[in-house]
Amino acid sequence: MSGGKVLAIDIGRSTIKSAVLERRERAFVIGEVEQSPSPTGDVTEPLLDLLRRKLKAEKGVGAIGIGTTGQVAPSGYVSAAITDLYREEIRLGTWLAEKLRLPVLVRNDVQLMALGEALYGAGRGWSVVFGVAVGSGVGGGIVRNGQLDIGAGGIAGECAHVRAVDSEERRSCWCGGKGCLEAQVSGLAIEDRYHAMTGAQALATDILRSARVDGPAAKLVSSVVRELATGLGTLACCVNPDGFVLGGSIGVALAPLLALLQEQMSDHAYRAVRRTKLRVAELGVDAQLYGAAVLCDAVLQQ
Ligand SMILES: [Zn+2]
Repeated sequence: MSGGKVLAIDIGRSTIKSAVLERRERAFVIGEVEQSPSPTGDVTEPLLDLLRRKLKAEKGVGAIGIGTTGQVAPSGYVSAAITDLYREEIRLGTWLAEKLRLPVLVRNDVQLMALGEALYGAGRGWSVVFGVAVGSGVGGGIVRNGQLDIGAGGIAGECAHVRAVDSEERRSCWCGGKGCLEAQVSGLAIEDRYHAMTGAQALATDILRSARVDGPAAKLVSSVVRELATGLGTLACCVNPDGFVLGGSIGVALAPLLALLQEQMSDHAYRAVRRTKLRVAELGVDAQLYGAAVLCDAVLQQ
């Protein structure tokens, strides 16, 4: 065993977060979380510099766990197709491991959020946890008995393009489809829809907060809750989780409407999965970092 600590990294479009998590008996304990702006252009060389600096400052790191925006294949290739953080498709973990001579495991950031919340956050005690992050976009991850289920191609849980609405309210999605969750309930979608209704620009979290006093916001939020509930009801039928953990800035901002969301999800879902639970994420930005540490746990034990 080369060390009892994991250096955990979360690569987002705007910030890179890092922390060292140390295994003490049966649980990881997280150290101070450092945030730095994501570089413009390709992230790989600046990431290598960051990791070298962190490893110099912290002794006893036995593995590096990385969550990244974008899609990660089971082979470890990070797709460059849907994020401009990578100039080309890269097998990021293998490349970094060769440079740093440490095991480096890489997975999608929302999948790691689901893993972190399943073991250390709102999903504790559930066997099957479906983490859904609604922020500027939509993503998801599935955890079965403490293990991340990445599916055949690495994208299990990716629920952004599940159809949430099939009425005249359905919106075109960048994927080519219409009425996808991401096109209907993401932060960017909420802001676009509000602008189309009122001509005003507002942040999605402010629109959600103003729904009690602002008529157009109330109408929009009512649609968003119904559409998200429809999407979750569909996912519940396919995956049959104990429950969903709702994260991301929009997911957390929906906390006051959780009972309504739960009720509408139950109304929509197939009878056998109507009791699927719904909780709001507890760990905030730390969830991905806990997930990255859990991902490395087996490597750490070797
Ligand atoms: Zn789509």
